[in-house]
Amino acid sequence: AERARLAASQGPGRTADGHPVKLLLNIGSAADLVPDGEGVGLFRTEFLFLDRKQAPPFEEQVAAYAEVLGRAESVIIRTLDAGTDKPLPFLGLPDEPNPALGVRGLRVDRVLDGVLDTQLEAIAAAAKATGAQAWVMAPMVTTVEEAAAFARTARAKGIAKVGLMIEVPAAALRARALLREVDFLSIGTNDLAQYTFAADRQHPALADLLDPRQPALLELIAMCAQAGAEAGKPVGVCGEAAGDPALAPLLVGLGVTSLSMAPVCVPAVREALAGLTLEECRERARAARE
Ligand code: PEP
Ligand code: MG
Repeated sequence: AERARLAASQGPGRTADGHPVKLLLNIGSAADLVPDGEGVGLFRTEFLFLDRKQAPPFEEQVAAYAEVLGRAESVIIRTLDAGTDKPLPFLGLPDEPNPALGVRGLRVDRVLDGVLDTQLEAIAAAAKATGAQAWVMAPMVTTVEEAAAFARTARAKGIAKVGLMIEVPAAALRARALLREVDFLSIGTNDLAQYTFAADRQHPALADLLDPRQPALLELIAMCAQAGAEAGKPVGVCGEAAGDPALAPLLVGLGVTSLSMAPVCVPAVREALAGLTLEECRERARAARE
């Protein structure tokens, strides 16, 4: 009993019957790193780009990425997720009538040359300097063509593992085809819920639509996890749902291989998983989908 209690309070994520589930951290900079967790599942790089009139200089980017790569056992860096809903002055993007449906995330690369290329080069340089492997993923990917173009660019820059965030229903529906282009997927349930239910993720009156237990969202997550299992490639969740101890077992039951969350959430999620077998997680998933 003592051993079980200890396993539940530290160490890698596992179900009661030993099925491994990586518990990863969502961070905005090296300052957010904690010794807990099995690596970084989402390094949001926006922080570096905030409050600037010019893009952060290449060397400054290299230093920021290297600091995280050098200190965590594995790191997934997300390329800049900006747009008119997360405005960054240096991008100089015009206002849009529907910012959430406009030029954001990877789409910024359609209208601005160089921002993504420079970021990928800085990440590759940071990986080289630290001897770490850089895993990089793009936000707001929608089609296989976008995924293929991103993967081509990232690999040409020397990125070791290329992935995509699944935040748009169109991408979830094509998870199998996307996985022919890339090495892993990470499901951003915050945006995936927003776009699946056509409900602003910040809107207090629409919270019930944005509940991650909504069966339509669970179907999309299951579709991605299934595609990952078939391809033998990791498919994680990095939206807020992953850090909720009531939801984490359900997500594991749907078949995701990692959960990435705010560092403060790791102990409770670890404990929730340690208390249930994989079959019990699957049972929760089946019940929720019905
Ligand atoms: C998400 O959309 O679920 C996500 C993790 O990205 P962000 O919250 O940064 O949009
Ligand atoms: Mg998002």
